[in-house]
Amino acid sequence: MKPVPNRYRPGGAAEAAEPEALRLHLARWVVPVASPPLEGGAVATFGGRIVDVGPARELRTRYHAETHDHGDVVFMPAMVNAHCHLELSALRGRLAPAGSFAAWVRALVAAREQADPAEWEPAAEEAALDMAINGVLAVGDVGNTPLVPRLAAKDPEAWPLHGVFFREVIAPGGDSQDPGELHAETPDPPGGKFRVALSAHAPYSVAPDLLRAIKAWDRDHGLPFAVHVAESPEEVAFLRDGTGPIREFLEERGHIPPGFRPAGCSPVAALHRLGLLDPGTLCIHCVHLEPGDEALLAESGAAACLCPRSNVFLGVGPPPAERLHAAGVPLALGTDSLASNDNLSVFAEMASLARLAPGLPPGAVIEAATRGGARALALQRELGTLSRGRVAAFLAVGPAPGRPSDVLEFVIHASAQDKAVCYWIEDTP
Ligand SMILES: [Zn+2]
Repeated sequence: MKPVPNRYRPGGAAEAAEPEALRLHLARWVVPVASPPLEGGAVATFGGRIVDVGPARELRTRYHAETHDHGDVVFMPAMVNAHCHLELSALRGRLAPAGSFAAWVRALVAAREQADPAEWEPAAEEAALDMAINGVLAVGDVGNTPLVPRLAAKDPEAWPLHGVFFREVIAPGGDSQDPGELHAETPDPPGGKFRVALSAHAPYSVAPDLLRAIKAWDRDHGLPFAVHVAESPEEVAFLRDGTGPIREFLEERGHIPPGFRPAGCSPVAALHRLGLLDPGTLCIHCVHLEPGDEALLAESGAAACLCPRSNVFLGVGPPPAERLHAAGVPLALGTDSLASNDNLSVFAEMASLARLAPGLPPGAVIEAATRGGARALALQRELGTLSRGRVAAFLAVGPAPGRPSDVLEFVIHASAQDKAVCYWIEDTP
């Protein structure tokens, strides 16, 4: 698929829209996500927001508007990459697919130490822009340094992404800064569209009291909380009885605190016992679940962010997407970083998820890439669906298929089609 950058506005190119005009955009198909696909649909925009979505013939009689017929395309919401690490973008192509999680972590630590510091910032900037050109409007970006929020603050007008930056804590012994101090070190970039929250790396790499303190800080500030969980069999073994390659890795670094006792349960159950699972928590990966884990997630309302291509790259196996969906766990989709993925395309991530989880309904795949991610980042009133009140920035993907039964599959597999194009429609100031 080719993105068409000349129609792309966030970050600076092409046709600045006049936000004060009422506009009607028409397409062969509209996939609102919040409701079933519409043939011959229209999206009305005014003042930077979507004001109506419906059949074109109805909206044409309802509004006296400037009309743009985009022809043979599918309109869909802008996508949300609910999990990435832009600060690692300079490691693109430097790590080989791993045989195990522990091997990949060791390779990552070594590659990070060897990289030239001058490469980090331009690589992150390029990756953010590339993601936006390829249909992503918001991210849940995780980092151990303030590099990404500093980049976003440098030129807020040019910064193309909405969403949340999660300043990540890794402190197996619990010895870390106070969460409030850590946040003060990484202030919100101006503009309000990209906020800074705190996250804990994983239940095995942050001590229980600190996990609770970080979650409490996010909750008290109305921000989402993110944590990698149940990513690998090594993590499951370490949480269950304190053994395996993760123990060896932490011991080598002197990170096993005196008196350490393993949780004695699954990673998801460990988060549940600490009171960390609620609708404001984003559980990243959720690959290695024990019986009952999906029910704990579903009852809590926490979202699972699936990163299937990263899981395959690390050799940990695909996420149990059908099982999570059947249990009612809200799903989001993420690419993870360029240290464990070829690119940060959410279109490619959708195609991978559909291949690895053939029982997942196509609508659920697209929802994970749009509304699911928006909800997980507490942005569902701003984006994630084509519906009244959302930001007037959405995608046109073409050439649209003729048969209604092919529309969702076309969107999911668009990244693999040479003739497909994707462009932005943006009527925002
Ligand atoms: Zn990650």
